Amino acid sequence: MIEELDRAGLLPSITFIFSRAACDDAVSQCLAGGLFVTSAEERLEIRGIVDAHFPDASSEELRILGFASWCDGLERGIAAHHAGLLPAFKVVVEQLFQAGLVKVVFATETLALGINMPARSVVLEKLTKWNGSVHAAVTAGEYTQLTGRAGRRGIDTQGHAIVVWHSELDPDSLAGLASARTYPLKSSFKPSYNMAINLIEKFGTHRARELLESSFAQFQADRSVVGLATQMRRSEDAIDGYQEAMECHLGDFASYMSLRRQLSDLEKDTKRDGVRERRNTATNFLNEVQRGDVIVIDAARRSSVPFVVIDEAQDMDDPRPRVMSQTRVVKRIGYTDVGDQGRTIGQIRLPATFDSRSPKTRSWLADQMSVIAKSAPPAVPTEKISDSKIDVEISRLRKAIRAHACHGCTDREEHVRWHERIYSTQREIDKLESRVATRTSSIAKEFDRICEVLTELKYLEKSSDAHTVTDAGLVLGRIYGELDLLTAECLRSSIWRELTAEQMSSAVSTLVYESRRDDDRDTQNIPEGSLGIALTEMVYKWGELKDIESQHRMDSLREMDPGFVWVTLKWARGQSIAKVLKSTDLQPGDFVRWSKQVIDLLGQISLASDDPKLAATARSAGDLINRGIVAW
Ligand SMILES: [Zn+2]
Repeated sequence: MIEELDRAGLLPSITFIFSRAACDDAVSQCLAGGLFVTSAEERLEIRGIVDAHFPDASSEELRILGFASWCDGLERGIAAHHAGLLPAFKVVVEQLFQAGLVKVVFATETLALGINMPARSVVLEKLTKWNGSVHAAVTAGEYTQLTGRAGRRGIDTQGHAIVVWHSELDPDSLAGLASARTYPLKSSFKPSYNMAINLIEKFGTHRARELLESSFAQFQADRSVVGLATQMRRSEDAIDGYQEAMECHLGDFASYMSLRRQLSDLEKDTKRDGVRERRNTATNFLNEVQRGDVIVIDAARRSSVPFVVIDEAQDMDDPRPRVMSQTRVVKRIGYTDVGDQGRTIGQIRLPATFDSRSPKTRSWLADQMSVIAKSAPPAVPTEKISDSKIDVEISRLRKAIRAHACHGCTDREEHVRWHERIYSTQREIDKLESRVATRTSSIAKEFDRICEVLTELKYLEKSSDAHTVTDAGLVLGRIYGELDLLTAECLRSSIWRELTAEQMSSAVSTLVYESRRDDDRDTQNIPEGSLGIALTEMVYKWGELKDIESQHRMDSLREMDPGFVWVTLKWARGQSIAKVLKSTDLQPGDFVRWSKQVIDLLGQISLASDDPKLAATARSAGDLINRGIVAW
């Protein structure tokens, strides 16, 4: 494919492959295939640039990082670019690509974000990507963002986007992606605990709330609200039109319809109640009948038919006893057969050896039944138990409807149809209205919940409807990151007080690191001693905070991740990068990136903590891991 692109003059190109390993594989394949897209002069130039970046090319660290084969690829004009790459390597790849020396880059979609590497062509390996749990289709937004790199400003008149064909590729969906001009932008903005503290500290509760409401995320939400509002206005206009069409020359048709609707609602209700009541009566009756009972079901227009119960019901909720009829048919009956018309008229003693399949037994049973049925009292017409109040209301409504001026209109049913339209449109509007209500001020509501949690934990103090930031709150205000609240809680308690600098860096790593796959987690055993105790206490603390969050209908704290604990501990103890990475599947780039974040959080902790000893430990913890390739 690369050779094809080269022949077609479509280099430099970026090929997006949605997995780091596959990017590296692609480079290896190119190297194994002896591919190169650079001239001898270009190769010299590349070598010079790389040497300038890495003067000590023979160091052990560079050997670990696969420096030699990486250089080989660069000289041939081929490289990978993904988050697992060491930052220093990435810089070189970007520089060489911009200089037109590296012409073939295999990248994950992280390249699509913010890095200036325009290409002549962009290749998409496929239109699905692994998002951690499923293979999701590339969205129109992603497609636009990825292919947006094709075409270099001032060099190319047009860019080329190429999608690699494979059997599952759906040309129609590709056409759909390629022609989509607009796509919804989704904001990932969410107010955090730290943000709430700092906003309240600076502006007070009310202004902070206002600021959040007018923030970008709210703007995003409102844009969809604008759409809903337009829809609502259109529906309301439609209703105006329908109302005009519904007008009756005889009187106020809306009031006439209101009477009719009241009547039908009332009738529906009583009918529903009636059905439920009949079912209850029947169920109770069928549950109570016993073996040998002779029962009749009084039908309104037929004479009562007797049955004898052969087997009692099993299922309390849907009792279906087995019975034999006067005509010697054996069957099961349920509540729909009985309604509220079942009654027991007598008893036949069934012998223990009773066999309902025997014709002789059946005829004996039928005879017994008819004797009992003949002497049974006739059905007493059950008095219809109905709420007389409702009956009165129903007849009042009926009268009012007949008396209404519009009742006699010859166009009445025509008016009714217009009314039905108004009614259903109004229901649509009601639905839209509640959707708008939940969307607007959703961020302010989130902010209120955050304040509740912070007040409960005494980071904020509530006075009437405003808050003041407590001393603990000021500490939280200096901690940034997803687990800001947990970090502040750890500082406030004595969890970290006994830790050495090495242990501290390791403990803090759980607040920063996130495994790429879920199965990375829990495979690590927890270190023993004071570090292990501290980690366990942190998990408890996390659990407490989760409880408090859920009491306030929040779910913002992500889980701690112990996946970086051992790596950080070993690195802090001064082990070599080779040793540290040996038993993990971390790539050097990941290691450096996470380590820098751990250093950053340690720095925040040392500044925020009001315990001088802890602050000093955090500082030296940061210094311990800020060495070697992390410090490059
Ligand atoms: Zn009319």
